[in-house]
Amino acid sequence: MNILVLNCGSSSIKFRLYAMEGEQILAGGLIDRIGEEEGPVQNHREGLRLILDRLDQDFQAVGHRVVHGGPRLHDPVLITKDIIAEICRYNELAPLHNPPNLAGIEAVADLLPTVPQAAVFDTSFHQRMPDHASTYAIPRFFREKHNIRKFGFHGISHEYLAHRGSALLGIPLAKARFITCHLGNGTSITAVAGGWSIDTTIGFGTLAGIPMGTRCGDIDPAIIPFLMEKESLTTSDISRILYYESGLLALSETSNDMRSIIKEASAQNPMALLALEVYCYQVKKFIGAFAAALGGLDALIFGAGIGENVPLIREKVCSNLGLLGIHLDPDRNGEVVGREGLISSPASRVKIMVIPTNEELLIARETKRLLSVEASGMTG
Ligand code: ADP
Repeated sequence: MNILVLNCGSSSIKFRLYAMEGEQILAGGLIDRIGEEEGPVQNHREGLRLILDRLDQDFQAVGHRVVHGGPRLHDPVLITKDIIAEICRYNELAPLHNPPNLAGIEAVADLLPTVPQAAVFDTSFHQRMPDHASTYAIPRFFREKHNIRKFGFHGISHEYLAHRGSALLGIPLAKARFITCHLGNGTSITAVAGGWSIDTTIGFGTLAGIPMGTRCGDIDPAIIPFLMEKESLTTSDISRILYYESGLLALSETSNDMRSIIKEASAQNPMALLALEVYCYQVKKFIGAFAAALGGLDALIFGAGIGENVPLIREKVCSNLGLLGIHLDPDRNGEVVGREGLISSPASRVKIMVIPTNEELLIARETKRLLSVEASGMTG
């Protein structure tokens, strides 16, 4: 069986085609700059058309990454009209993600109406988070009326990192206490115990925790009404500022992209240096908080674009964490760029690992599982 995995962003589609026997990658790539004047295609439907033209092999199903499953879509599902309507309801909580995820689903439904599609949610791995970690201290009336709680994101990546870390380190997942650091354009950190997320840095929407490419991370909520009043901002103004104009972009005044920030920082640009310091400090702070929440730590795992490729960030994050038994080996850290490896010193009580995350493989596996459940008539 072959499965096509799509990860649709607002201006890009990442795709990978798997032969599930042996989990072999048959094809993969990226269509980007969707909708830009000079871009290759104007919308996701045209982007998918381009991908289909490039693929030599057939496939039997499509698996999608969907960021926000809301309070009802707990586990991966085969997509129906009702599921699409449900995902749509959470567009405003994940405005950078859910609308393009849906655009990809609709493009497949349009061009390949008979091919089954599955949605695998970033929120699923966090569904078992205990109430004390997921409950916000606002009146219960609002929490219940609007389902306001911490949902958690990047769950597909955190799940992959935890499972792979467990296999590589030989620590059974049921007993493991891990902190998984998904440091990409979106960033989140998760405390994993008993094989599931027990706390994570993002949130109800996709803004909280560590500052991201353009998203603000944790700020004092008092800033929001204050700014709205002083600057006569509407809710869409403030959302735009916090989702699209904040984070590393606002701190560095250079770019949302870590490569550019590091380049500027090495030229001693003070705002780029500040952006790096704020980012690493926030990651370090949450590692301390989650080590306390877990009551101990077996491994610290770095993944995603920044986590996999930037030894400098890992070094800053891990510095002065001897108190927690975390000791980085600078040589190993410097050597591991973009690939799997252990980067802790032999004396470190906590193992530190870099694991290239692989959300696509997990989505392909879940899609295959859903199809076989359906084929055996065990749905619902
Ligand atoms: P997403 O999937 O959310 O778009 P990624 O996991 O691809 O994000 O991570 C993107 C981030 O990783 C960007 O900030 C990018 O600059 C950074 N990144 C990727 N590769 C490198 C590298 N070699 N050096 C520095 N930063 C990198």
